Amino acid sequence: MTTTVSVLGSTGSIGTQTLDVIDHHVDRFSVEALAAGRCSDLLVAQVERWRPSVVVVANEVERNLLAARIDPGVDVLVGPSGLEVAASSSDVAVNAVMGFAGLPVTVAALRAGRRLALANKESLIAAAPVVARVRETPGALIVPVDSEHCAIHQCLPRDGAQLSRLILTASGGPFRDVPEERLATITVAEALEHPTWSMGPKITIDSSTLMNKGLEVIEAQALFGVEINQIDVVVHPQSIVHSMVEMVDGSTIAQLSLPDMRLPISYALGYPDRLDVAFGALDLTKPMSLDFGPPDLDRFPCLSLAYEAGRLAGAAPAWLSAANEVAVEAFLDERISWKGIADVVAEAMERFSQVDLVDVGTVLVVDAEARDVTSGIIRERMVP
Ligand code: MG
Repeated sequence: MTTTVSVLGSTGSIGTQTLDVIDHHVDRFSVEALAAGRCSDLLVAQVERWRPSVVVVANEVERNLLAARIDPGVDVLVGPSGLEVAASSSDVAVNAVMGFAGLPVTVAALRAGRRLALANKESLIAAAPVVARVRETPGALIVPVDSEHCAIHQCLPRDGAQLSRLILTASGGPFRDVPEERLATITVAEALEHPTWSMGPKITIDSSTLMNKGLEVIEAQALFGVEINQIDVVVHPQSIVHSMVEMVDGSTIAQLSLPDMRLPISYALGYPDRLDVAFGALDLTKPMSLDFGPPDLDRFPCLSLAYEAGRLAGAAPAWLSAANEVAVEAFLDERISWKGIADVVAEAMERFSQVDLVDVGTVLVVDAEARDVTSGIIRERMVP
């Protein structure tokens, strides 16, 4: 019997790489559902190739466009409710939806007792208290697809009491070494050039500001149940050590591989087995250096903002993540500067007040309000 997989966010970077991994193991996996925002040529080709039972798109317009181009036997569903159906109908749900829109996938997969291969960190960050509850469902399991968290997952001791600290590695992004005065004039094209990883635009911008690392600190806090002050970030430009776990006796365990997302994807799909196609294997017989150093918090204030949101906990990570999504969008549209992203998020955090996240509805309210407040801040900044 094959393991059925739903690939949600199938036309993005993680989605296409997931289908590539499945392509290497067609005897082992079958595709139950696909989801993408739009009816693109790529989505049509994926439906033809993988013959899923269900496809989800963003709205009715896209549904009609897609339905006209594919086998009428395929169910085409729409929006968050469609994502919920797709996420709960397979053995493994790969959540590669971009941003907060991935929340229905995370909650529905866990509530249905499925394995969630989680590439969408925003859903966990925004809704940690809600996710913690649905994670108790028998059979529910999160296997992180984020490379750092996948590394930690592989290094964790069996007994949590042996764990002392988590050490997340960061490439440092493209602006690690550029002169301070250049930071004010960074263009969108420059920020979209990542030195080691190939990823979608939102996460690439987040990597350039180190907000991605900050969100990953909060993600690690939620995933592994550790305190925020037990999590360190170190800059490691080569992106070979994907993260580390320090034990109470001072021993540090690391996971190493080339920066290839198909390895964490394979790990999550095959877990607890390991799949036998080696993506990212290292040749350590060749000379190689690995460097580590502290992050520059003056240059990358987003990292401190994320630590602060993690410390506040409750609804603060949801507020931070939503504010950041709006700010990143504004930067990509050239409405604010690269440095403006951190300024806007900092200002949004000043206007945060704590709320108890009792359910998904509360998370949606907090998210919407944070987006409103942040859009307002951006408009105020644009008025000369
Ligand atoms: Mg990562």
